Amino acid sequence: MNKVILIKYGELTTKKGNRNFFVKTLKKNIKNKLKKYSVEIINDLSRMYIYFEEKDIHEITHIIDHVFGIHMYHIATIADTNVDSIFDVCLELLEQLSFKTFKVETKRSDKSFEFDSPTFSKMLGGYILKNINDVTVDVHQPDITVQVEIREKSSYVYVNNYKGLGGYPVGTQPRALLMLSGGIDSPVAGYLALKRGIQIDAVYFEAIPHTSLDAREKVIQLVKKLSLYTDTIYLHVVNFTPIQEQIYKSCDSSYVITIMRRMMYRIMEELCHRNKAYAIINGESIGQVASQTLTSMSVINNVTNMPVIRPVGCMDKLEIIELAKKIETYDISILPYEDCCTVFVPKHPVINPDIKQAIQMENNFDYQLMIEEAVDSIYTIKINDHFEEFSELL
Ligand code: ATP
Ligand code: MG
Repeated sequence: MNKVILIKYGELTTKKGNRNFFVKTLKKNIKNKLKKYSVEIINDLSRMYIYFEEKDIHEITHIIDHVFGIHMYHIATIADTNVDSIFDVCLELLEQLSFKTFKVETKRSDKSFEFDSPTFSKMLGGYILKNINDVTVDVHQPDITVQVEIREKSSYVYVNNYKGLGGYPVGTQPRALLMLSGGIDSPVAGYLALKRGIQIDAVYFEAIPHTSLDAREKVIQLVKKLSLYTDTIYLHVVNFTPIQEQIYKSCDSSYVITIMRRMMYRIMEELCHRNKAYAIINGESIGQVASQTLTSMSVINNVTNMPVIRPVGCMDKLEIIELAKKIETYDISILPYEDCCTVFVPKHPVINPDIKQAIQMENNFDYQLMIEEAVDSIYTIKINDHFEEFSELL
């Protein structure tokens, strides 16, 4: 039997004016992800069809399960658009399944087909009852729902519904930069940003020798996980050591984190300009730590005019953890390597910092020059889901 993966777009179809662009981007993304398989991808305004080789089905559906912009998909069997062919295909399909109750749902988009949807559902139901032993119709809670789509060229029969990831295809929004720390929150923030269609690069601030190379490798592994949902992600590694040490020397210890984060934001803004990125994305969550009270956030945010998007801003830690487990970043995130923020964390960080004091303290040193040096010495790693060579880079 000839099979096809039938993709439904869901939320995409609400974007009337942009629909073509969204569908085109989704098709490009799927094509790119499936480039090593022999597939044919065809789309119309409401559906996408992926013709594939049967042996690849598990690998292909695994990939499809990681593509944003898909509401639902089915693995459908193809029939010719005539009663006999649809009946034959249904029977062949159902004979392989074990079930006691069923119902039939028909969608006839080919209006020249001789029977309307309810009539055809009844006909097919009768045919199934006649040809398969010991089954009955149950329209409320059937074991299986036989779904038939009657279209002009071919018709499609399926009994499965696979939920897609939803969201928008990555690339329907321009680039933004994700602050990726190696903790639990920021990879989840990255996943949620990708889900809105945003193309992301990641930025990691490291403070060697205070942080280890293992910490960097952890971030690389996190980027690799995120790249499953998009294509290549560029990871920009910032040497934050000189700035951090200077802050430690020049500022009151309770303000160290506030000022450190103001410096990070300044660097992020400059990187956004250099990389044509339109927003900063991070894993800040309101109230989680001293630097994430609303007062802290406003003092920290004050150094940039870039939009700062905080996808997990209003989520509970437990909700974030649940998502981190789902996207398989959690086990990497909890590896015990120190991050630059945790190494330098003071005993009593200020909860309600005063902006005038922050400015006064950071004016104790020429941070502008240090920021330029940090930005100029960034190195970038290109990472995708088959990236292996950590050791060569470290
Ligand atoms: P996470 O929030 O990812 O669990 P964390 O809790 O250690 O890690 P916080 O101190 O809460 O990080 O920092 C808030 C956000 O700031 C992080 O989610 C991340 O987006 C960003 N951030 C913190 N440290 C770094 C870093 N070393 N490199 C890049 N971004 C960072
Ligand atoms: Mg956090």
